[in-house]
Amino acid sequence: MEAGDFKDFAKAMTDYIAEYLENIRDRQVVPSVKPGYLRPLVPEQAPEQPEPWTAVMADIERVVMTGVTHWHSPRFHAYFPTANSYPAIVADMLSGAIACIGFTWIASPACTELEVVMLDWLGQMLGLPEEFLARSGGEAGGVIQGTASEATLVALLGAKSRVMHRVREQHPDWTDSDILSKLVGYCNKQAHSSVERAGLLGGVKLRSLQPDGKRRLRADILRDAIREDKAKGLIPFYVVATLGTTSSCTFDALDEIGDVCAEDDNLWLHVDAAYAGSAFICPEYRYLMKGVEKADSFNFNPHKWMLVNFDCSAMWLKQPRWIVDAFNVDPLYLKHDQQGSAPDYRHWQIPLGRRFRALKLWFVLRLYGVENLQKHIRKHIALAHLFEKLCLEDERFEIVEEVTMGLVCFKLKESNEVNEELLRMINGRGRIHLVPSKIDDVYFLRLAVCSRFTEEKDIQESWEEVKASADEILKKLKK
Ligand SMILES: *Cc1c(COP(=O)(O)O)cnc(C)c1O
Repeated sequence: MEAGDFKDFAKAMTDYIAEYLENIRDRQVVPSVKPGYLRPLVPEQAPEQPEPWTAVMADIERVVMTGVTHWHSPRFHAYFPTANSYPAIVADMLSGAIACIGFTWIASPACTELEVVMLDWLGQMLGLPEEFLARSGGEAGGVIQGTASEATLVALLGAKSRVMHRVREQHPDWTDSDILSKLVGYCNKQAHSSVERAGLLGGVKLRSLQPDGKRRLRADILRDAIREDKAKGLIPFYVVATLGTTSSCTFDALDEIGDVCAEDDNLWLHVDAAYAGSAFICPEYRYLMKGVEKADSFNFNPHKWMLVNFDCSAMWLKQPRWIVDAFNVDPLYLKHDQQGSAPDYRHWQIPLGRRFRALKLWFVLRLYGVENLQKHIRKHIALAHLFEKLCLEDERFEIVEEVTMGLVCFKLKESNEVNEELLRMINGRGRIHLVPSKIDDVYFLRLAVCSRFTEEKDIQESWEEVKASADEILKKLKK
């Protein structure tokens, strides 16, 4: 086995990657394979003898690409975007080469220290208050989690350890299980499913509250729920405010919610801005995070909308000690002399092991510059408004939710069934890909601007696809 062979493989793959991305527009967005398509295409067992890399290369199209959904096609409009850029891919290559496991500072000092600084850079780009940043000199700071779901759970566990600590002091006669059974957290009914899941994993009650007519969680609803629960002897301890809900990208009234949380020391306010958080690098969108200084933790995903490949979920904590203490189980082999002078990020997260993900942020921030990242956000929002305009010009359609970011929620002015049929038809034609959502029994279609390759002409084409499907369905309906 010659190392030289593999170097050639790496070089060939680099060319393949560039070719794939530059021509992704020509590929069918969703593959037409059936479940189980892959097994017959590969041998029953791993090869006993090594194969030439050219054989692997030759199988990529045949085995893999035939079954890939091309998330970076300019006509992929499902879910929310997932980021992709050459600087982030190259950084992942370097991270793969260094291949360190950065659980302690000494396990790879650069891995920890670059992460601390990158989260300060990023926090400043978003206009986060200094109290969240490591450079403020206190205990606060940021950490890269794998996903927003993990960040929500980590924040919940921090909130739980803080409230347990306080209640134990006030009621030394109560057992931990007494206290645990009284804890209750809150979120918008429109919050991401991972919030409810964090409650299940954390073993505490979590209430989904009814939002107002604009799908925003408001102070009065939260205050009523808290009052009601306290009257029952429960202990409210955790509130999640969502900035940019997954269904329809609405924003909870953070400023008001922050005031409610400030009325009770035990309430930990976590902000889930997984998708929309990237837009706060543009000052004109920061009004949507007004009140952020009242939060205890804040999270968004550069891996969604800021050109940093998955996984990279940025989380800031004002008082990481509640998490660090809750998760601290130091065996001798993980202790080191410099403990305390830099964060040992293993205590800030659920897994022990962690990759060198700060490299992706560093490369992307330097090679795009804040200016081009802002352009990327503004372009996606403008493209969403273009689709909105095309929709509004056709009187058969309506917009379901105000368009603020790169998501358009729309439907035919017909029943749920007709709209379900519309989506089936659109996705069946295979030229574009959308997913639906439903709020208060109203079924609608979601068009998210996802790819960094998407241009006006692609949005026009996507609209033509929607229109063509609508024509066909409404014609059938008239018969
Ligand atoms: C996408 C999304 C999540 C989940 O993000 P992961 O990083 O995949 O866990 C959570 N909350 C909101 C509002 C989202 O849009």
